[in-house]
Amino acid sequence: MGNQFEQYDFQPFINNAIEKLGFFEPTEIQKKMIPMINKGESAIGQSQTGTGKTHSYLLPILNKIDRDAQVVQAVITAPTRELAQQIYQEILKITGEEGITSRCYIGGTDKQRMIDKLKTQPQIVVGTPGRINDLVKEGALLVHKAGILVVDEADLMLDMGFIYDVDQIAGRMPERLQILVFSATIPEKLKPFLKKYMENPQYAHVEPEHISAKNIKHILLPRKSRNKETLLHEALSSLNPYLAIVFTNTKVKADEVADYLLSKGMKVGRIHGDLSPRERKKMMKQIRSLEYQYIVATDLAARGIDIEGVSHVINYEIPGELDFYIHRTGRTARAGHSGIAVTIYEPSDEDALNQLEKMGITFENQDLIRGEWKELADRNKRKNRQKAEDDIDQKAKSLVRKPKKVKPGYKKKMKYKMDQIKKRERRVKRRNNS
Ligand code: ADP
Ligand code: MG
Repeated sequence: MGNQFEQYDFQPFINNAIEKLGFFEPTEIQKKMIPMINKGESAIGQSQTGTGKTHSYLLPILNKIDRDAQVVQAVITAPTRELAQQIYQEILKITGEEGITSRCYIGGTDKQRMIDKLKTQPQIVVGTPGRINDLVKEGALLVHKAGILVVDEADLMLDMGFIYDVDQIAGRMPERLQILVFSATIPEKLKPFLKKYMENPQYAHVEPEHISAKNIKHILLPRKSRNKETLLHEALSSLNPYLAIVFTNTKVKADEVADYLLSKGMKVGRIHGDLSPRERKKMMKQIRSLEYQYIVATDLAARGIDIEGVSHVINYEIPGELDFYIHRTGRTARAGHSGIAVTIYEPSDEDALNQLEKMGITFENQDLIRGEWKELADRNKRKNRQKAEDDIDQKAKSLVRKPKKVKPGYKKKMKYKMDQIKKRERRVKRRNNS
């Protein structure tokens, strides 16, 4: 049987690239998006991270580029520099020596040099919205002929306040525009933008089987009275990961933790917003060439970045916004591999943990004692008992109605009836449990 991508009748150079990438079967979101994009439809693609959204648009877009027209034909926007660069690298892998021209525009780089180089326009533009919009406003980058606009990680675009720039760029593009929006979630606040530019968008939604990829094991590790940095060091040493990302909530904390681990002789890289563009670029390169066993990162790095071979994700702190738990742990178990997520928690995190459980995460409770992982009883055991009691209460209340006409002493009678029911229920429960 041939490669399943053959069904799309891509040009030979695309098919060769697919072979080289080692893809044999399109992912669910690719199966949905590629035919729509081939037909020129605007579409919204929603699926979990790690499900192959990037190639769901790159392959059909690159397949469409008219090599003879030296004008911008597609604009791809992404919310972070790393992500833009990553998409750019994927483009280069596919276009290879084909002579299709692409360029990456991100903040923190020499703008004048970019403008000078724009005497010839690239056929594909990828970058962060702010910088692309700058170049468009300057009249250096000409997008009025570009018929395709991609908004990747749209929910994060919104969070980071980039939708305005995307809007401005879209405004300079042709009236008839194929817009492709990708996101793990489609927040309500994004809808005005979608409505403004997309008349009849196709909507492809791949429902996650579980909220978080199936093959991630979520472990909870209580801090207890231990020093958190020591505990982290101990946990990492005993896990001996292929590649672990440790997430903190702030840049300051990320530096503290990274410095601590370095002082312990660990090979540690770091990604957060305080690095200069050059430092970040170097870091990503080092990470890709596996110079580190550990990376300490803030949530900026949690989104979209595809670092190969992340075997473990450690939450040194639980993120303030719980969706980020999903994004962080989504860094591991990419493309069918399995992964382990360890979250260090404190009693004050109880609410957040309950919330995550409601979102569909199933945790395993473990402790680390002298370098050994030990199963713990469910931290909710006591609470579960309380919940069972509450359920019985509810049931009794629903069975014993207040009479329409009340006689003296009805309250006492009701209570008696309820107590009888509760006794019976508890008996039933006990019998079922034993
Ligand atoms: P998303 O944007 O949905 O978070 P990515 O586009 O970053 O996901 O893809 C995640 C990983 O899956 C990447 O390493 C990518 O190369 C790989 N991948 C994409 N499509 C396929 C496919 N059809 N078969 C195998 N691996 C794939
Ligand atoms: Mg993506």
